[in-house]
Amino acid sequence: MSDTSFASLQLPAPFLANLTQLGYHAMTPVQAATLPPALGGHDLIAQAQTGSGKTAAFGIGMLLRLNPALFAVQGLVMCPTRELADQVANELRRLARGIGNVKVVVLTGGVPMRPQIATLEFGAHIVVGTPGRILDHLGKGTLDLARLRTLVLDEADRMTDMGFYDDIAAIVRACPMHRQTLLFSATYPDDIREATARFLNAPQEITVEAKREESGIAQRFYEIGFDNRLEAAARLLAHFRPASAILFCNTKARCRELADYLRGQGWSARALYGEMEQRDRDETLAMFANRSCTVLVATDVAARGIDVASLEAVINVDVSKDPEVHVHRIGRTGRAGESGEALTLAAPNEKKWVKLIEAYAQMEAEWHPLAELGDDIHPADPAPMLTLLIAGGKKDKLRPGDLLGALTGDAGLAKEQVGKIQIGEFASYVALDRRVADEAFARLNGGNPLGPEFGTVKGRNFKMRWIEL
Ligand code: AMP
Repeated sequence: MSDTSFASLQLPAPFLANLTQLGYHAMTPVQAATLPPALGGHDLIAQAQTGSGKTAAFGIGMLLRLNPALFAVQGLVMCPTRELADQVANELRRLARGIGNVKVVVLTGGVPMRPQIATLEFGAHIVVGTPGRILDHLGKGTLDLARLRTLVLDEADRMTDMGFYDDIAAIVRACPMHRQTLLFSATYPDDIREATARFLNAPQEITVEAKREESGIAQRFYEIGFDNRLEAAARLLAHFRPASAILFCNTKARCRELADYLRGQGWSARALYGEMEQRDRDETLAMFANRSCTVLVATDVAARGIDVASLEAVINVDVSKDPEVHVHRIGRTGRAGESGEALTLAAPNEKKWVKLIEAYAQMEAEWHPLAELGDDIHPADPAPMLTLLIAGGKKDKLRPGDLLGALTGDAGLAKEQVGKIQIGEFASYVALDRRVADEAFARLNGGNPLGPEFGTVKGRNFKMRWIEL
């Protein structure tokens, strides 16, 4: 047995069986380096990127240290964004199946506090959240960290960049002195090293070199003129036809302009940038995740923490001036050994930024002329799914099974024609196969006396409509 097998860690049998069921056979390099010291109770500083398996790297130790019979918060994970917090919580819940009933609660901003308080009152073992909201709960006395055993700072560099340092320090003061602290960060510059030193007790430092040759990412750089950037981006999409792609732009204005242009060409594109209404942002992320939007045109800040399990392409529509950002962008494709395209458009005035990337990543850019793509422009691929927004959620005791039941029963769909179902507090998103979507809606409506915008689920009427791109 190789020493990267999870079996070498002497985990409890049901826990190991669950990992096998999740398809986790060998440890990722970050897990192999961090799990033995983490399970040994040491504090750690680990340099690891999203996609490296870092959630399990801190989650496994945290879960094994907790006592499910004790209804108190024993693990706390701080994350920079809401999306990352959701993603981490889901991964922890999957891992926790191996040890029985563990309650993982997400505390992030942008939503009302009251439901979070109610959930905390029911008892939580692990809290995953953003620093601002965690601090709000501490201030109100609705979160008690006195029994905390494991504290995790995830993406510590991003949290510090986003100005969360003071909040983090205040939260750490509310934690018991005797605890394990694990800090994960993609980068670990000196200022973060100094700022976080007092949160950790004799930490072991772990750096795992990213192996470029294993990443499966083919980087191509395309020379463009000054004024045909939108068209060039559309040509790349038409040529490579990725099932899903993120197109990075440096400004909000460019994101909107490009998303409009691509929609005009028939692509299921949406823009994602800072300062969007939370609801629009949630909607866009839900649609990207459920494949009713396949092209996301985003700024770096807005794209942080997006769950991108199967991204086939990243297109840098504008070159980033920060080589580290560039590497972070393209790291979102070609995950877990799958192949992916990393394409970059560069006008003459941007070549200096490409030089920085070459130096930083120690590689030579492979330049291609746009003309290589040929003139035969294929029509756009619309997204395979459409998203139905249903005005009902957890508050109405709506569950995924209810929706699946209504769609496969009354609406006559096959299970495969129903995509991701996401139930929110007050509203839910369901992805349906585009080809049968209208017919399904008509059957859910069934000539509803309340009007054409209503559908019936489990004998109850809910307002519902398609979300436009
Ligand atoms: P993370 O870096 O935590 O965001 O994890 C990236 C993805 O890799 C997640 O979808 C995990 O479920 C998956 N993953 C984590 N550890 C393993 C492993 N040892 N084997 C296979 N997949 C893994």
